[in-house]
Amino acid sequence: MERKISILGSTGSIGQQTLNVAKNLGEKVKVYGLAAKSNVDLIELQAIETGAEIVCLFDEKAAKELKKRHPMWNVVTGMSGLCEVASYHAVDTVIAATVGSLAILPVMEAIKAKKMIGLANKEILVAAGHFITKLAKEMNVTLFPIDSEHSAIFQCLLGEDKESVSKVVLTASGGPFLHFSEEQLKHVTAKDSANHPTWSMGSKVSIDCSTLMNKGFEVIEAKWLFDLPLEKIDVVIHPQSLVHSFIEFIDGSMKAQINVPNMELPIQYALTYPKREKRGTLPFDFYKNNKFEFFTPDRKKFRCLDLAYESLRVGGSLPCVLNAGNEVLVERFCRGEVSWMGIAEKLEILLGRHNALYDLSVDTLLEVDREARLEAKRL
Ligand code: MG
Repeated sequence: MERKISILGSTGSIGQQTLNVAKNLGEKVKVYGLAAKSNVDLIELQAIETGAEIVCLFDEKAAKELKKRHPMWNVVTGMSGLCEVASYHAVDTVIAATVGSLAILPVMEAIKAKKMIGLANKEILVAAGHFITKLAKEMNVTLFPIDSEHSAIFQCLLGEDKESVSKVVLTASGGPFLHFSEEQLKHVTAKDSANHPTWSMGSKVSIDCSTLMNKGFEVIEAKWLFDLPLEKIDVVIHPQSLVHSFIEFIDGSMKAQINVPNMELPIQYALTYPKREKRGTLPFDFYKNNKFEFFTPDRKKFRCLDLAYESLRVGGSLPCVLNAGNEVLVERFCRGEVSWMGIAEKLEILLGRHNALYDLSVDTLLEVDREARLEAKRL
């Protein structure tokens, strides 16, 4: 069976790896749509290589430049362009690999058009998990996890009764500051944060990993993807990033999913499921990878983890504020306006000031998102 895909965020880290996987799968995957923010040169190359039928550059100026180079191409722009790529008629699967909550509407459009979603963009579920999962259920659309931890959980759950799960444990590498003292943490920079020990990723994700916010987001993501109560989701630090997550069952048995860190594996699995296809990788070497360590996360130093738990416990619009505020504060940290510790400190203030709204419409949610961003800029 051939998979016909669109990639939202094709020039980012996951987007590029998805194209690589698609290329290796040959006839089995055909790329119809590409969307990115503003990287004209790269998306031009990608479109030529894949023969994509529709290309979106979110940035209007960048889109004009691409159209100038290729007047015959179907080039679209802005939010409407992103939605067009997400719901393009020829496509059956949309890989959501953008960063932040920008793609909430395009992903909802894709679900309405009954496309399967390969979800690499966790902020969408953090900000709008309730909507997205409800809509997917109504439309009978599968949300397929591409995050390595959630792909691991998905694989461990295959053939199991969810009632028999007593706990889901997400592993976290701990990021580059795992063993830093509080004093050291006061002085870390965006460049230090991007220096991830086991994964290579975009800078926003790297910084979220360094604060453990990424793991907090993944807890929220797991709740929505697998419909689990918060008490059943736990986090453990595992610096080697070999065990991608594990599940504990009521009889005390555990299942784990293991591979050398490589995002192409969960991406490929999302594109070939329920089948598995060969990859050019060497078999796992247990003698070389013979160290499996596990630690409790330091919730005092890495405050963002509990902020995520707390906002999910309160629910309603609070996780949306968490995500929007974090996005702005990470940008400000990159510009040197906010310290690394300041990200959690300011986020806590922002969350404390927000009176959670329940029974939300998408419009009110997007309004909450906008307001939280404005406030996070002023804090
Ligand atoms: Mg992950």
